[in-house]
Amino acid sequence: MIGKEVKKELRAIVGDGRYLDNKEDLMLYSYDAFMVQAQPEVVLLPITTEEVSKIMKVASRERIPVTARGAGTNLTGGSVPTQGGIVLCFTKMNKILDIDKENRVAVLQPGVVNMEFQKELTKYGLYYPPDPGSMAVTTMGGNVAENAGGPRAVKYGVTKDYLLGLEVVLASGQILHTGGKTIKNVTGYNLTQLFCGSEGTLGLITEITLKLLPLPESRRTLQAAYKNLSDAGQTVVKVLERGILPVALELLDKVFINIIEDYTHIGLPREAEALLLIEVDGPEAGVIDQAERLTKLCREMGAHEIKVAKTAEENEEIWRARRSAYGAEARLRPTAIAEDCTVPVTKLVDMFQEVAKIARKYNLLIPIVAHAGDGNLHPQILTDIRNKEEMERVVKAIDEISIKAVELGGTLTGEHGIGIAKREILPYEIGEVAMEITRTLKKAFDPFNILNPDKVVRIV
Ligand SMILES: Cc1cc2nc3c(=O)[nH]c(=O)nc-3n(C[C@H](O)[C@H](O)[C@H](O)COP(=O)(O)OP(=O)(O)OC[C@H]3O[C@@H](n4cnc5c(N)ncnc54)[C@H](O)[C@@H]3O)c2cc1C
Repeated sequence: MIGKEVKKELRAIVGDGRYLDNKEDLMLYSYDAFMVQAQPEVVLLPITTEEVSKIMKVASRERIPVTARGAGTNLTGGSVPTQGGIVLCFTKMNKILDIDKENRVAVLQPGVVNMEFQKELTKYGLYYPPDPGSMAVTTMGGNVAENAGGPRAVKYGVTKDYLLGLEVVLASGQILHTGGKTIKNVTGYNLTQLFCGSEGTLGLITEITLKLLPLPESRRTLQAAYKNLSDAGQTVVKVLERGILPVALELLDKVFINIIEDYTHIGLPREAEALLLIEVDGPEAGVIDQAERLTKLCREMGAHEIKVAKTAEENEEIWRARRSAYGAEARLRPTAIAEDCTVPVTKLVDMFQEVAKIARKYNLLIPIVAHAGDGNLHPQILTDIRNKEEMERVVKAIDEISIKAVELGGTLTGEHGIGIAKREILPYEIGEVAMEITRTLKKAFDPFNILNPDKVVRIV
């Protein structure tokens, strides 16, 4: 419990408007996009690094748990304050501090929303590719802390591939600067990347330096429908084998095609077992050539219906289907759990089949969307959190899906992170030596275990 005097001290650091402790506010900060809930004792909304540092000095002295929060969209319970204490919400630290066009670098505060940042960059003819499905609301601090990815990862990689430097407030309140503005930098250990994906357990990110790219001249999307899922899966492998590197290569299964069509009525082929969405970008001539080669390849591989967008509007229309997926599924059951695992692309079809087996075994509805080009599947477990018996089956199904992905040479999570959702099965993938090093690192950065305790690794 945070004492009255300490609360006063915390309130004085941020001021009245950015200190919240009434019941309704605390409830609003008690959940994220996963299925656990826990209330903080206070919520603080800092606007400067100095405020964050002062808060951490108090928290460290008083051993108060601190859970960082961006937009609260993570899918693993990462921003839920499971041990109470302080929620430190970064949404008011939302300034783009610098866009350096000549050096193609940007510096920003952690509360900047991904899509706002992307929009701003287009004014400079610049591009930051990582595009999580939640990009309209998700913060860049949350993206770094989760090493977020998205459909464009096939060609452009994920958050870590653009991260050049960070400012981080440590558990002690000390301010650490890592990396810099240059693409090449091998000075000392790569601390920047250590914080990327650390889920708020090692330090609080207060400033981010990112590498940027020139905005591609043109883009084109192709939609290919298959009567056979395995033909669609084989197409993914062949696309990459033939040296075409699409920006995005997404796959929707039959259940999803129909859920989305019921919701949007955009004319998706209901009879198809799988739908591939493939986007290419670059100079206009190259884009046309790649779209033609892809059309030919998809046909060879058994696609029975192919649609190629010819205008930006048609492009947008095709992507609307994919983006509607989460909204559409919400109409079927009250709870949707977005599973996240990754396998080598050659094992994609096997993994689809394993998920179908697991769904049958536990009598659950688990449609799949996949960032197929990088082997990242999101089986969506559609359920009802109020049904205890069904939730027991759900938990078993999640574990089995994760374990199967590892058995097929993949990983427990491609982009959603560990949080508390996958903490107990983390050792299954990384093994005891890596677990010991993980615990040692956590203790070195956070000796009193106050930074997002309970997440990623349990310290006893
Ligand atoms: C509909 C939907 C679609 C999604 N699609 C994708 C997708 O395509 N790809 C993907 O990768 N993810 C996706 N996600 C998951 C989620 O959006 C990402 O994990 C995102 O990066 C979280 O950002 P946030 O601002 O919401 O952070 P939060 O959820 O608030 O926090 C995430 C984690 O980061 C920590 N954190 C937040 N800010 C800081 C900070 N400044 N310093 C230190 N730690 C911090 C928190 O403690 C927490 O552990 C999706 C989620 C939803 C709901």
